Amino acid sequence: MQISEIRVDGYEKVVRCQDSATGLHALIAVHDTTLGPALGGMRMLPYASEDEALFDVLRLARGMTYKSAVADTGLGGGKSVVIGDPKLKSRAFFEAMGRFVDSLGGKYITAEDMNIGIEDLNNVRRQTRWVTGLSLSDGGSGNPSPYTARGCFMGMKAVLEEAFGSASFTGRHVLLQGVGAVGGRLAELCQEAGAKVTICDINEARVKELCAKHGFQSVPDARHLEVACDVYAPCARGATINDATIPQLKCKAIAGCANNQLLEPRHADVLKQKGIVYAPDYVINAGGIINVSIELIPGGYNEPKALEKIDRIYENLRQVFQISREQKISTHNAAEKLAERRLAAARR
Ligand code: NAD
Repeated sequence: MQISEIRVDGYEKVVRCQDSATGLHALIAVHDTTLGPALGGMRMLPYASEDEALFDVLRLARGMTYKSAVADTGLGGGKSVVIGDPKLKSRAFFEAMGRFVDSLGGKYITAEDMNIGIEDLNNVRRQTRWVTGLSLSDGGSGNPSPYTARGCFMGMKAVLEEAFGSASFTGRHVLLQGVGAVGGRLAELCQEAGAKVTICDINEARVKELCAKHGFQSVPDARHLEVACDVYAPCARGATINDATIPQLKCKAIAGCANNQLLEPRHADVLKQKGIVYAPDYVINAGGIINVSIELIPGGYNEPKALEKIDRIYENLRQVFQISREQKISTHNAAEKLAERRLAAARR
């Protein structure tokens, strides 16, 4: 196994692994460990080149520093990418990845991300202890989705307060795009709290099932932006907030779990100009990472502690909105300011 360093300005450590025995070609980026060891998922994709993989891992690792700083997980930001076709996975392959992760001595802690499952992480775990997100039976924190949904729900309370002056869901109309693991649970929580819920998803069977079970309204996915609502919750995919969709929005606020909702950061400024309250995705969807971070506290995973910290997403968003109001900047920029403030305080 050959491990070599790639020097990148602004990053604490970026390393490449090439292992001829297993064919593993992977990168780990540690962006910043001011607040703690760098935690971030491992993804596997058939990147066209190492440069493309490097671009992705750098961008994602930096994003994790900001996400963890705002979520106050006591962790830094990092990420790893495995270059290759997910169909070519093997036990030996991920054991080699485990040795690569271990070579950083705990500076980087890995978890699940795109195309990486529990079985892969179990193989990584054979070679290193620096793995989180394992199943409950293996001492991990299990499936993060219900925790992400709870964090979004708590964040929505701050959003309702900001947009309507009250955190109450009673009589509010929430429109969700994507009712998978997180969106489905979030829809239930909103309804239980008194909201009217409309859902859409490209998986029609799933929509049918949830409407029958909970009495939600539904709308065909292609027409969901025609629905007037109080809160729009993108819970499916990224880049749905863009120049084409913003003029169509009929909501007072956007608060959903999907990653990278804005096509570009400037779209947060456009939303502010239009008076739409936007909850930055990485602030409101941090429930999963907060849950995983609790695996690392002395004594190991503890659900009540996780929930207590997840519920602070409400307070984190209130701070983001306050900075946005006071400094007349978008909530996207305000969240970055909050993260930078916490990083600067820790450096001092
Ligand atoms: P999921 O795969 O369980 O659910 C996604 C749902 O969106 C599916 O039902 C799918 O059919 C639907 N969908 C996909 N494309 C769509 C489209 N174009 N239009 C409408 N519906 C579409 O995923 P999830 O775990 O619920 O995650 C949802 C989003 O939240 C993703 O962007 C994910 O990256 C993000 N996220 C998830 C977590 C977590 O803990 N699972 C944490 C942070 C962020």
